[in-house]
Amino acid sequence: MRAMVLHQPGQPLRLEERPDPVPGPGEVRLRVLACAVCRTDLHVVDGELPQGLLPVVPGHEIVGLVEALGDGVTTLHIGQRVGVPWLAHTCGHCRHCGDGHENLCDAPLFTGYTRDGGFASHVVAEAAFCLPLAGSHDAVHTAPLLCAGLIGWRALRTAGEDAEHLGLYGFGAAAHLLIQVARHQGRTVYAFTKPGDEQAQAFARSLGAAWAGGSDDNPPHELDAAILFAPDGSLVPRALAAVRKGGRVVCAGIHMSDIPSFPYQLLWEERQLVSVANLTRRDGADFLMLATGMRLQVETRTYPLEQANQALDDLRSGHLQGAAVLQP
Ligand SMILES: [Zn+2]
Ligand SMILES: [Zn+2]
Repeated sequence: MRAMVLHQPGQPLRLEERPDPVPGPGEVRLRVLACAVCRTDLHVVDGELPQGLLPVVPGHEIVGLVEALGDGVTTLHIGQRVGVPWLAHTCGHCRHCGDGHENLCDAPLFTGYTRDGGFASHVVAEAAFCLPLAGSHDAVHTAPLLCAGLIGWRALRTAGEDAEHLGLYGFGAAAHLLIQVARHQGRTVYAFTKPGDEQAQAFARSLGAAWAGGSDDNPPHELDAAILFAPDGSLVPRALAAVRKGGRVVCAGIHMSDIPSFPYQLLWEERQLVSVANLTRRDGADFLMLATGMRLQVETRTYPLEQANQALDDLRSGHLQGAAVLQP
């Protein structure tokens, strides 16, 4: 197999040849068809998260074909098309696993962070954490759904069903999918981009944003909720200032720069500041079913696997519209 491997955070990934991995009990080996690039991959590569596995193959938005079954796998079959998301394993017995919040498991594994992921020609995954995919979807346009899509979905549910006027801060891979879901549900969406990024603002309007502007602009209507995808802590007080009494600000990223201090007035009147972490398998199944039903328009830019570093650079510099996808 071929893989793009991170040996040390802050250094480029290196292309390596490795023996094909052998799936252990309960695992499957997949041939990777496509793997999208997420901002979390950037945080892993740049060393902004607590140390994970090293060396590691990043990538957790994988679409692959089942190629080999480990002992005891009965739920998947050879040739089946599946998705592999960020959540790779949970313990199954901690209090969070027990009460339906496996996204908060005390002893989890994460694809492309604490176990090898999909910036590769092949990957091994636990069968129980693979998401079956309908065969008709093409791999490149399905891959971004597996994190950008379903983390966005979890954030949207956390924002609340009654959040009619919804702000999205940071208009990248996740927001461009989520706006379509939110519009489908009849919500009015306000898109906040880097100040002056008119290309991203035009992109947001083309996908149905009622308004698009810079993150330092005031929206034309008070927000019921805001979701922050941009990893910029200074957006938290801005978003709190834009939501109504009783409104909610949802931080959807795994990493954010420090939040500057702000007057209590911004939180007062029952405004809420919350985060969403990881995903449950239920989120994955629910979102994929929804996405299948509503024909999401998925904007992608494809790169050969060997150009993973270029894809990461383009994401880091903000020169991407939609999602980057690697093809082995
Ligand atoms: Zn657990
Ligand atoms: Zn991700």
